[in-house]
Amino acid sequence: MAYKCPKCGEKIHRGYSESAQKTAGLVGILFYMAFGAFVCKNCGKIARSEFSAADKTKMTVGSIIMIILALVIGVFIFMLILEK
Ligand SMILES: [Zn+2]
Repeated sequence: MAYKCPKCGEKIHRGYSESAQKTAGLVGILFYMAFGAFVCKNCGKIARSEFSAADKTKMTVGSIIMIILALVIGVFIFMLILEK
């Protein structure tokens, strides 16, 4: 999901952390992205409050989807470990 920067109109993305991925794998990166900040190439980190109400709703939905996905993957990995 892409959002537009409220300051300059550039496309922005959710913050990405390589260290979060290395420590916790795919589940870690999903959680990091669900709770992480949004970053604009020109303006840096953008606070949630600076976005429009419509964008904030989309972000909340996106975060919930990512958390659910992370939980599903987590349970799946847990079951694979238990089977061995
Ligand atoms: Zn910007």
